[in-house]
Amino acid sequence: MSNPTNKILIRNLTKSYINGKQNVPVLKGINLDVADTFLTLMGPSGSGKSTFLNILSGIDQADSGEVWIGGKNLSNFTEQELTEYRRNETGIIFQFFHLLPYLSALENVALPLYISGLGKSKAREIAKEALEKVDLTHRFKHKPDELSGGEQQRVAIARALAKRPSIVLADEPTGNLDTYHAHKILELLLELQEKEKFSLFIVTHDREIGEKGKVRLKMKDGLILPEQNPALDLV
Ligand code: ADP
Repeated sequence: MSNPTNKILIRNLTKSYINGKQNVPVLKGINLDVADTFLTLMGPSGSGKSTFLNILSGIDQADSGEVWIGGKNLSNFTEQELTEYRRNETGIIFQFFHLLPYLSALENVALPLYISGLGKSKAREIAKEALEKVDLTHRFKHKPDELSGGEQQRVAIARALAKRPSIVLADEPTGNLDTYHAHKILELLLELQEKEKFSLFIVTHDREIGEKGKVRLKMKDGLILPEQNPALDLV
C-alpha cells in the first residue's frame, strides 16, 4: 500500500560528468512519481542507475531538477543537511559490501553508530541486535575475510539497518553472490522490511529480483522509461 513517507518525486533531474574537457550528460531529465515500499531499477550498464541511486542516497548531488523523498526536498539541502539525511534516514548497501577489512563484523556495524554520536557501549549493543536480526550471532568477532560473500553482505545489511533508516538503497546487492545466496539476501531484505517498515530501492541486473519489485523501473540512456512511470503522464 502506498504511504506518503515512501513517496519519491523527481522533476527534470539532470547530472553530467566532466571527462577531460567534455561534459558528458548521464541523467538527462528524469521524471518520476512513485509511492511504494519496494522499487527495483534495471537497465543496461552505463545507463545511469548508480548515478541516480547516489543522488537519492545523498552521496552525490544533481546538476538541476528536484528530488523529493518522503516530503523532503533534497535538492535544497545544504551539505550539512545532506550529511544528516545520509546518516539518519538512509541505509546504503553496495555490491562489494564495503566493509572495513581490519574490523570485526561487530565493529563494522558499530562504527557508523559511534561516529554519529552514540556512546561506545550503546553502539555495540545496537550493532549486536542488528547482527542478530541478520542471523550472524555466531560471527560477531569475525573479520570480513573470514566470512563468506553472503555473510559479508549480511554484515553490510546489519550496518545499513542499525540506524533504523526510512529508506534502504541497494546498488546491485546480490551482484557478487551466487544465485542461491542472492535469493537468500533478497528474502532477508524483504523479511526485514516487513518488520521494520523501511522503503527499499534496489538497482539490479538480476531479472528475477527486478521483477519482484512492487514498482519496476527501467532506465535507458539516462532516462527512466515510461513503463510503470506515472510521472511521464504529467509531462
Ligand atoms: P550504471 O549504474 O547504469 O552502470 P553509472 O551511473 O555507473 O551507470 O554510469 C553512467 C555513466 O556515467 C557511465 O558512462 C559512467 O562512465 C559515467 N560516470 C559515472 N560516474 C562517473 C564519474 N565519477 N566521473 C565520470 N564519469 C562517470
